[in-house]
Amino acid sequence: MSSAFFTVRGAFAEALIQTPAQTEGPYYPDHLPLDQDNDLLIINDSITPAVGQIAWVSGRVLDASGSPIRGAVVEIWQADDHGAYIHSRSPIANRDVNFQGYGKFETASSGEYLFRTVKPGLYPGRTRHVHMIVNVPGRSKLTTQLYVQGEPQNNSDGVLSGIRDAAAKSSVVVPWTAIESSQIGELAARFDIVLGLTPEDAPAGPKPTIAKRSAVVNAAAFQQGVAPGAWISIFGDNLAASTRTWNAADIVDGKLPASLDGVSVTIDNKPAAIQFISPTQIKTPTPNTGSQRSTLLSTCVLFVSRPSRSFTC
Ligand code: FE
Repeated sequence: MSSAFFTVRGAFAEALIQTPAQTEGPYYPDHLPLDQDNDLLIINDSITPAVGQIAWVSGRVLDASGSPIRGAVVEIWQADDHGAYIHSRSPIANRDVNFQGYGKFETASSGEYLFRTVKPGLYPGRTRHVHMIVNVPGRSKLTTQLYVQGEPQNNSDGVLSGIRDAAAKSSVVVPWTAIESSQIGELAARFDIVLGLTPEDAPAGPKPTIAKRSAVVNAAAFQQGVAPGAWISIFGDNLAASTRTWNAADIVDGKLPASLDGVSVTIDNKPAAIQFISPTQIKTPTPNTGSQRSTLLSTCVLFVSRPSRSFTC
């Protein structure tokens, strides 16, 4: 009976709390250390470790459904025991030169990451915290911060208080507990990082489709078929989410925009400049194909791409 109960519970596992994004802050190292491994306590093969209470910070990088993410690159940077960063404008000047201050770790299939560091020191205006960036190829990166449960300054910290959702806020405040077997008072902190939906994962909505018969016409005359160098209109459905013409801000270094609001078109595998987008029409000057092509363009040489949606025939 009880095992059946737990089976059912597993099926209705609690929804994971997405790790909230937080500011990167001003102290991402402006000169990265040569040693960027996951042991911040020792720089290269120095025999002098950093000063401070040693802490093992570990956890898993998970997707929204709780599956571990392989190949996630986790970066951390933090103040040393005195509150100083590896930064030329560090709020505390007297830096511990034996503290690496920054580290990187790439997850394997378990999604686990691990750092050896020190409990972050305090500097004016903030509670103790560790900065983190998680980069997964093909996803938008997450920038966040990790906190120490029980710190009196947590209640008055502006960045932490800025997380409005209570569950999301408490998810970034974890216990840093003493490791019982440690003779030197090491701490361990577990922090699972849950990534949310990304543009690639987002509900796709309707795919763009190019109208079969009137797909490509001369933009001026609305006649089917178009010669190289002419303007063309592409008709269809769901071609774009917005309606607008290019403006001065879209033209950078004298180059016409290759996309407007994330909508792009290729013709014969060559990117076309985008002059106008709407859900049902895109206008573009045809790219210079360099050929003497005089046949009609068809939908089969067109590729319309929107964020997370694309069409080809
Ligand atoms: Fe900071």
